[in-house]
Amino acid sequence: MIKVQLADRIKNLPPYLFASIDKMKQQALAKGVDLIDLSIGDPDIPTPQNIVDAMKRAVDKAEHHRYPSYEGMHIYREAVAAWYGQRFNVGLEPAGEVISLIGSKEGIGHIPLAFINPGDVVLVPSPGYPVYPVGTGFAGGEPYLMPLTEANDYLPDLGAIPEAICKRAKMMFLNYPNNPTAAVAGRDFFEAAIAFAEKHNIIICHDAAYSEIYYDGKRPMSFLEVDGAKEVGVEFHSLSKTYNMTGWRIGFVVGNRDIIAGLGKIKTNLDSGAFQAIQEAGVAALKTDDSALSWIRSTYQERRDILFDGLRKLGFELKKPEATFYVWARVPSGFDSTSFVTHLLEKTGVLGTPGVGFGAPGEGYIRFALTQSIERIEEALNRIKKAL
Ligand SMILES: *Cc1c(COP(=O)(O)O)cnc(C)c1O
Repeated sequence: MIKVQLADRIKNLPPYLFASIDKMKQQALAKGVDLIDLSIGDPDIPTPQNIVDAMKRAVDKAEHHRYPSYEGMHIYREAVAAWYGQRFNVGLEPAGEVISLIGSKEGIGHIPLAFINPGDVVLVPSPGYPVYPVGTGFAGGEPYLMPLTEANDYLPDLGAIPEAICKRAKMMFLNYPNNPTAAVAGRDFFEAAIAFAEKHNIIICHDAAYSEIYYDGKRPMSFLEVDGAKEVGVEFHSLSKTYNMTGWRIGFVVGNRDIIAGLGKIKTNLDSGAFQAIQEAGVAALKTDDSALSWIRSTYQERRDILFDGLRKLGFELKKPEATFYVWARVPSGFDSTSFVTHLLEKTGVLGTPGVGFGAPGEGYIRFALTQSIERIEEALNRIKKAL
């Protein structure tokens, strides 16, 4: 029997946030709790039928049963470029400025391997998606946390990053509309980020996974709409949230050719692309008329309104989200985020995510996901009311 020893890069990982939440959840379920799970950002709404039907047809085609190309099928990259043109008025060249990803998490996790040497710094928002610092660490890089605070509208204060860090930084992750804070960024912020990146020679990786989950008709912009963006960065995107396709594992990255080629080099050596039938279904998704998706947004909007109003009436401090399917609220005084999540679960069977799980500046907050029906959200509010 050998002694199996983990490498330092995974031995030193903090426990994956959702893994520890899942444990609490399993324990509650084992006790027979009628759990209302508002903790995980995974749509409860099924994939639209036209996409499922496209997949059924595609899976029968023998040519799709072979290895795909690592950069994605031409028709898929063309559909991505056409979608960017229509949605954002951004021109993209399907050859070189677009590659497919096996979900955007795959590309986000891998991109530091293409550009980060041991000791290089990667600027990551905190609270933020855990893959940014973890992917950085896997490449031997050092994450530098940029705090997102209510006082700064959850935009990083680029001027507060020390000069010595700017010198060592090679890459910066940004994510708007933002998970977990539900903040959106405007043109001014992106312009400042591009100027910062140019000054310090930093690659910007903008994660736009939630660009299509927006409210009140206010469509968030793409980072690539801003002048100079393509000179400094790329935008990650995913079909997961837009089309309720989290299980399908299909996304893409677009923008700067050299940055995409670098990520492509990593990918050719690690994976062999996304199943072509899924890419063909992805084409059907990207060609879906936007008006056919408005019911998805109105479903979330109705839930947002109920949860937001309900929490506010219960005395929670929170801002009305303009995008994403998250509600980011301050925990009541006397609690920190972990103790409140635990208290809530024990007293009500409602499960939220502790803000601190997304990074230290998330302390004092809880994230609720709008991925349950109105009935369940109302039931959650009733239970919280009784428990307070
Ligand atoms: C859900 C999510 C993604 C998308 O993940 P996929 O791998 O495309 O399913 C990316 N970034 C953030 C911040 C997310 O919350």
